[in-house]
Amino acid sequence: MTLRCECGAHDIEIVDAIYPEDDEGRAVGSAVERYECQACGRTGTYVFGDGIDRTTGCVTTGRPA
Ligand SMILES: [Zn+2]
Repeated sequence: MTLRCECGAHDIEIVDAIYPEDDEGRAVGSAVERYECQACGRTGTYVFGDGIDRTTGCVTTGRPA
């Protein structure tokens, strides 16, 4: 899957990420990745895992509006 910004730029940079793990290091729950668009400076997140697949802020997986 390709993530991009609502402004149309594909140049988004990951600035923070959370990958929850259990005590034995296995991935649990949903991961969160925070991105900043290098074109317009807006930020957004991509949340996935545990049945969730969601974007917020400027991050989108859809086509340009
Ligand atoms: Zn942008």
